[in-house]
Amino acid sequence: MKTNEIMARLQAKYPGESEYLQAVREVLESVEDTYNQHPEFEQAKIVERMVEPDRMFTFRVTWVDDNGVVRTNTGYRVQFNSAIGPYKGGLRFHRAVTPSMLKFLGFEQTFKNALTTLPMGGAKGGSDFDPVGKSNEEIMRFCQAFMYELWQCIGPDQDIPAGDVGVGSREIGYLYGMYKKLARQYNTGVLTGKGSTWGGSILRPEATGYGALYFTQNLLHKAGKDIKGCRVAISGFGNVAWGASKKAVELGAVVVAISGPDGVCEIPDGITPEMIDYMLEMRASNRNRVEDMAIRFPDRAFFTPGKKAWSVKCDIALPCAFQNELSEEDAMQLKQNGCWCCCEVSNMGCQPGAIHYFQHNGVLFAPGKAVNAGGVATSGLEMTQNASHISWSGREVDEKLHYIMDSIHKACVKYGTQADGSIDYVKGANIAGFMKVAQAMLEQGIV
Ligand code: GLU
Repeated sequence: MKTNEIMARLQAKYPGESEYLQAVREVLESVEDTYNQHPEFEQAKIVERMVEPDRMFTFRVTWVDDNGVVRTNTGYRVQFNSAIGPYKGGLRFHRAVTPSMLKFLGFEQTFKNALTTLPMGGAKGGSDFDPVGKSNEEIMRFCQAFMYELWQCIGPDQDIPAGDVGVGSREIGYLYGMYKKLARQYNTGVLTGKGSTWGGSILRPEATGYGALYFTQNLLHKAGKDIKGCRVAISGFGNVAWGASKKAVELGAVVVAISGPDGVCEIPDGITPEMIDYMLEMRASNRNRVEDMAIRFPDRAFFTPGKKAWSVKCDIALPCAFQNELSEEDAMQLKQNGCWCCCEVSNMGCQPGAIHYFQHNGVLFAPGKAVNAGGVATSGLEMTQNASHISWSGREVDEKLHYIMDSIHKACVKYGTQADGSIDYVKGANIAGFMKVAQAMLEQGIV
């Protein structure tokens, strides 16, 4: 295969689907050499099949707001690839959701899920519904209307949605309530990220952030460094930023910044457990403002409007918010300010120019599909618990999560170690995930 030829074809077919094209290019460029050593893949046209979703559902979602006004949004489910297990991936509720965004996320999810060591295929879904400023009742009515269309596409052995940006345990609760009513099926394994009293796994809320820090620890260890005392800048203040902050502090790091769409909150002496708890309240308020942290803790945090977390001096940068949130200029500013490591926690959080800059300027870098895989891995553990009608203790889940993150790091090292001994984590993660899915597709024939 030739990446440029495949990309030219996809560009002509899907003009304007920029996030999707960006994600596909990144993976194909990394795997091209390895792929071309396998003529059997080329013969079965594995790559041409792998870049297209198996199928996509698009549906109208109509609901009534608190003023009695009828509103209409669009809902989607992209079932990307089922070579290694049933479709699995989150739902994103955000005003900028488009088919391109969900295709990029479903494509990434396929390789990420392959890395987790668990049998899960890749999927993603969501809606252009904007949760910002919505009341609890509006969120509930939207979730119910969304499930009214989605329920026929999903099932515990077929497709298992979960949360993502704008979808947390509250939304999963409303979605599950409506699913049961429509499907008359009471198997909790149809969704993950559930409440802990009705089938949710202990530690699932923390898992993406905790897993990211376990991966970061492994990467630092391999580079002969220690996270203790490191200054960490985190973007976002949602579920992922919350879990990452909690674990970073537990491991002895100092979290000096969190951010939001309104600007950055600098915390020179480090975030405290009380502030970390407050992040949950900020998220639940649906105001989407990080400034609230500085208002609540004026002695420890100060807010600067319009600035990103990457303007704050740090050792380690952890993008935890949204795709393409860290540009090449941000990467240069981070480096100038002394940053020497960036572990991408958000999906495709760094622009290609930023990754290139980090990799060529001595900044350790690892990609989201490896770093953030602890979230979906713990969803996989939730499915196992649901299927066997048991629930594990926090310690058991944490041990398994830790083991999975260690395995993902090992796989990246195995496939990403270069001739000069350095580790290209982008290549490592992409090749490890891709080869597993490609092999499974090959063994299952032309379908
Ligand atoms: N949305 C998360 C991700 O990007 C989690 C998906 C899941 O738990 O299924 O991996």
